[in-house]
Amino acid sequence: MKTLVLNAGYEPMSVVSFKRAVILVLTGKAAVLQADEAAPIRSASVVLDRPSVIILTRYVKPPRGRKVLLSRRGVLRRDGYLCAYCGGHATTVDHVLPRSRGGANSWTNLVACCRSCNCDKSDRTPEEMGWRLRFTPAPPRVGRFWLRELEEPVDEWRPFLVGSGWGADTRKATSASATAA
Ligand SMILES: [Zn+2]
Repeated sequence: MKTLVLNAGYEPMSVVSFKRAVILVLTGKAAVLQADEAAPIRSASVVLDRPSVIILTRYVKPPRGRKVLLSRRGVLRRDGYLCAYCGGHATTVDHVLPRSRGGANSWTNLVACCRSCNCDKSDRTPEEMGWRLRFTPAPPRVGRFWLRELEEPVDEWRPFLVGSGWGADTRKATSASATAA
């Protein structure tokens, strides 16, 4: 099993092999938050529960300049699958400024949108509809957002992903962080 690494602020940082995780723990760079007691690791000198979640002892600045590739799914995830206009469950993506009017395919012009708002809006702008965006769309921040492994998180990780934009309980947190980004 792989190990989820949280930054010192409890944000998911990366996913590493358990060997790497053990090294981080043994060198004092991380502490074990959760371990699989059923599968201890034995070496000549140490017996250690296999860590499933570890936390860095010092805050690491997320890498800068790494861009998140734009995708429909990414937009939905950034917005927590909540419609940018009505807050309902979103399954589609809307161009805020419609493509037919020169709207770009970009993180700042794409938002999650429910079917009904998307149909109603069609190729009009929010202003023309008298609608307001619930947040200002922005590119997601890589460090906390874009861990491929978290698309299908291991069960043991789930409690540690709450509030970081993952899972059903955290949709609000995601759209709030999109606002702040
Ligand atoms: Zn809607």
